[in-house]
Amino acid sequence: MPDTIFSKIIARRIPARIEYEDDLCLAFHDVAPQAPTHVLVIPKQPIPSLADLTDADEPLVGHLIGVATKLAVKLGLGNGYRLVVNCGRDGGQSVDHLHVHLLGGRSLGWPPG
Ligand code: AMP
Repeated sequence: MPDTIFSKIIARRIPARIEYEDDLCLAFHDVAPQAPTHVLVIPKQPIPSLADLTDADEPLVGHLIGVATKLAVKLGLGNGYRLVVNCGRDGGQSVDHLHVHLLGGRSLGWPPG
């Protein structure tokens, strides 16, 4: 898989505002936030998108969601928040490294664009 901006952040080859890290994932603030809180939770394993997941990845996906929900508490999103995973071009995915967006800190509109 080719290097993406996110694999460079994992390798600390480009800077990011890191909020959380463990053996499986990294969470950092989005460089172009779409809400007062906008954090990305990414696996360290370079999985391109939801479309590339296998059954064996289910625990990892659960971990990413669990980390995101704990960060929501830590970052004070008690009024609610949204987790988003864009998949593919029509889904609005622009970086080909799986990531969960954690958005909150304002009332979020629905439906998404
Ligand atoms: P998506 O459009 O779902 O693929 O989301 C990719 C996200 O990565 C966008 O919200 C971008 O603003 C964000 N992004 C791109 N480059 C960086 C970076 N260097 N540091 C933090 N976030 C980034």
